[in-house]
Amino acid sequence: MELKNCMEEFVQDKMDVVLEQYPDCCRCEQCRLDIAALALNQLPPRYVSTREGDVFVRVNEMNTECEVKVIKAIANAIEVVNKNPRHGVGA
Ligand SMILES: [Zn+2]
Repeated sequence: MELKNCMEEFVQDKMDVVLEQYPDCCRCEQCRLDIAALALNQLPPRYVSTREGDVFVRVNEMNTECEVKVIKAIANAIEVVNKNPRHGVGA
């Protein structure tokens, strides 16, 4: 068993869907991680104790209200990262 924040999985899962609406947004690893981090900071964590392979089931149990919040948080994060991308700047 391990402790897992299933909001992380959910944000990663939804990020591609939201990114489709931002064709100009950079998709490099740095920017994707920045978007995920910014989005997760706006969202309450959802910790579950989980066995391996169990996470996706729980993610799919997310309700619509939660999904809307996640999509909004990702959209906000994309706009922030798009304006100030950190890729190629220092480390
Ligand atoms: Zn980038």
